[in-house]
Amino acid sequence: MALQKKKSLGQNFLKSTAYLRAIADAADVKEGDVVLEIGPGEGALTEELLARGAYVVAVEKDHRLIPILEVTFTKEIREKRLTVLEADALEVDTEAVVGKKPYKLVANIPYYITGALLKKFLSEERQPQTLVFLMQKEVAERIAREKKESILSLSVKAYGDVKYVKTVPRGAFAPAPNVDSAILLVANVSKKNFKNAAHEEKFFEVVKAGFGQKRKLLKRNLEPVLGKDVAERFRDVDISDTARAEDVPLEKWLGLAG
Ligand code: SAM
Repeated sequence: MALQKKKSLGQNFLKSTAYLRAIADAADVKEGDVVLEIGPGEGALTEELLARGAYVVAVEKDHRLIPILEVTFTKEIREKRLTVLEADALEVDTEAVVGKKPYKLVANIPYYITGALLKKFLSEERQPQTLVFLMQKEVAERIAREKKESILSLSVKAYGDVKYVKTVPRGAFAPAPNVDSAILLVANVSKKNFKNAAHEEKFFEVVKAGFGQKRKLLKRNLEPVLGKDVAERFRDVDISDTARAEDVPLEKWLGLAG
């Protein structure tokens, strides 16, 4: 009997080989790569990753899918090319599951936890080298295509080079979701934009405060976190007194924070 899909877990399975390939291509998955996959579902993307010779660790929250994956991939599991874990991806200890080698994070993610997944895997110590997520199209656009910045776009760009790779229409999934999707690539993931942990923390504090009250000028929003010398800081990093948060690029936010 076919598995009853759980909407609450974002279970829209990708059925198109061309788009599964496009996801693996975006991450440039090659023989010997270590890949962490979130939400393997019935294993469509897992199969593509394994076909390219990657070592895959697949973390799936729905216990009903574990035996299905274990039967489909008996050989790969025996050969230790695939590890299937029943867990919530937001709670995994990344180093414990992928080991110490560099790894790529590749997933057709459950959309209800997009922000939380980006936050965990980009900001934790054990970052991936490359992150490729299939996500809701509008969210990928907001991160990588729109001229106006947002808390989300800045929080992702701070850690790597973003690229909107490809639109994936809703019809490529079963069941079809209510929205179109897109492949987002974050390449060269690192913390090189931050001088240290305090700078990283201050960056988020400043960005959140800056976008705090939409009607207020950026300068006013930042007074509580930057103190009285806010005008001087604006001059130092070359931001106009009348600037709006969405028009200030990443480099200037980094400058304001440290
Ligand atoms: N990878 C499959 C594909 O491309 O067809 C399935 C993708 S489906 C959009 C999302 C998958 O993530 C589902 O299998 C769902 O059970 C799983 N999932 C949902 N929440 C999760 C979580 N917190 N941690 C790990 N997996 C989760």
